[in-house]
Amino acid sequence: MTHPSALHTVSSAAAAPRRGGPVEPRSGTLTPLAPGEVRVTGGFWHDLQRLNASTIIGHCLAWVERVGWLANFDRAADGSLEADHAGIEFVDSEVYKLLEAMAWEIGTDDEGELADTYRDLVNRVAAAQEEDGYLHTFFGRPGQRARFSDLEWGHELYCFGHLLQAAVARLRSGHDDQLPAVARRLADFLVVEFGETGRTAVGGHPEIEVALAEFGRATDTRTYIDLAATFVERRGHGLLAPIEHGQEYFQDDQPVRSGAVLHGHAVRALYLSAGAVDVGVEHDDEALVEAVEGQYVATLARRTYVTGGMGSHHRDEAFGDDFELPHDRAYAETCAAIGSVMVSWRLLLHSGKARYGDVIERTLLNAVLASPRRDGKAFFYSNTLHQRTPGLPPAEDSTSPRAQSSMRAPWFEVSCCPTNVARTLASAHLYFATRSDAGLQIHQFGDFTATAEVGGEELTVQIASAYPFEGDVVLKVIAAPSSPVEIALRVPAWAEAEATWSVNGDGLTVALGDGYLRVTGIVSADTGLLLSLPLTPRVVSPDPHIDDVRGQVAIERGPLVLALESIDLPDGVDTESVEIDLSSPIESTPTGARVTLRRRTDRELPWPYDGASTTDTDAGPAIVADMIPYARWANRGPSTMRVFLPTARP
Ligand SMILES: [Zn+2]
Repeated sequence: MTHPSALHTVSSAAAAPRRGGPVEPRSGTLTPLAPGEVRVTGGFWHDLQRLNASTIIGHCLAWVERVGWLANFDRAADGSLEADHAGIEFVDSEVYKLLEAMAWEIGTDDEGELADTYRDLVNRVAAAQEEDGYLHTFFGRPGQRARFSDLEWGHELYCFGHLLQAAVARLRSGHDDQLPAVARRLADFLVVEFGETGRTAVGGHPEIEVALAEFGRATDTRTYIDLAATFVERRGHGLLAPIEHGQEYFQDDQPVRSGAVLHGHAVRALYLSAGAVDVGVEHDDEALVEAVEGQYVATLARRTYVTGGMGSHHRDEAFGDDFELPHDRAYAETCAAIGSVMVSWRLLLHSGKARYGDVIERTLLNAVLASPRRDGKAFFYSNTLHQRTPGLPPAEDSTSPRAQSSMRAPWFEVSCCPTNVARTLASAHLYFATRSDAGLQIHQFGDFTATAEVGGEELTVQIASAYPFEGDVVLKVIAAPSSPVEIALRVPAWAEAEATWSVNGDGLTVALGDGYLRVTGIVSADTGLLLSLPLTPRVVSPDPHIDDVRGQVAIERGPLVLALESIDLPDGVDTESVEIDLSSPIESTPTGARVTLRRRTDRELPWPYDGASTTDTDAGPAIVADMIPYARWANRGPSTMRVFLPTARP
């Protein structure tokens, strides 16, 4: 297919761009590693990244083609696109998130089938860019609404943001070619349109903030970062027209730095927070970073599910009030979990606090990874923690409403989550490790190598672990500098009391503190460390303020939140009529736990508020059942499921 994209094609810049991860702050306690400096060598994450490369990316690509969202660009380029645009206002962004996923996956090599597909896709996008840099398929043409005529719902700036982030991924993989050129023209257009002398406005869905900040970093362009700051500071002054969900839905009810806790639409709030941290770091505005950190910490304490999922409301995809966390109506959108990882990663880099590595671990393993089906061809958009009736298998060949599917669906009318999963999986390894002047920090576990220059010399370590299913983490030094270094491994908060370790090497100091096990001294190529984290299943009780699950418990095994799925119960026993017997031992299984349940005999009454006398715990034989990782539920056909279980009376 030929597109009139030659107009916009530029030759590669003279110097290769600086490689890096999705976030490269100008300053911070910790410095991220670049692609190539972290290499996944096998195991859990290798399997997931292979699934992403072999299936998820292709699945998303097939769907954006099939539903006409890619053809929107072709038709914009050849002048045939009018009001008959395919899909809702922001479907351009799915193509951009897919381009971001592909850029991370292609990496530095830029050869092969995926690279060819990527270039074809970029050609089609580039061809739709207008002379002044604007690029959106839903607005501005004959028969379409005018540009920026619907800043509340139009999502133009949101889509632009995802285009810029896709360009960042390309630049950070070492290529300054067509998509970064398209993104520069778009960003320059935005500086004129929305900068200090342009229109005083913000977009209804934050995303442009985090994207402009990063694109500014990736291109060394302060004006882009300054525009990101302008968007952050403008928010909260009622610039957006009132809507039925109220101004707080798009965080336009109060200035970003004056909030106490995240509120309103969860994905919007989290993307905005990520952008605000970036702007705060770039402008040495510690007060802004601290404000956002305070809001996020309060959100973790009062508005977060045990999986790390965020957002309680189906109605407006929003955070609820403090401790308003319904489990059978949990919204917990996959994109909100990804947004939380984005915020945590920025705060980890800024502060070095191990706690944010804990949050990333919990959220990635239990919330983000719950989305893709085992075969990579269907996804959860919302993530309930309690499924009362067996889900209905969605049609595999049509789009599903975004949140009504009780099983994973292949594609959605609003399909933000699948492509978000794809870009997150493709870049997941870049969240595993960091460096500092002192040495290397390992934040996540699996099979990978991490390398950094410390004091002008190379420090490379190899991590081997069957985590999250086994608790031993083996670290081996591969290349060592001649001067002393510090190698830090995050020890999750749940493991701190019982973690054990042994070191192979002379004259090294080992200390556990602040969530890290730190090995300090002169290491050599035979230095080794074994960290053992206890994976004995743990009983987790919720804060009593969370009325929805008061008196119930969850079971965690290592970093994994477990779930009881009906498929693992004997015939005739359902998840709604069992209680967990905590007086019986809970045994570890290879991936979960074996628990003892007691059956409750329920008597249905015409009026269900006649007190506890209506139920008895069955005195019959105990039911022994396996609980599985929550992220893996709904992979064996329609089922019911619950994370929190009532406890049997002794
Ligand atoms: Zn989503």
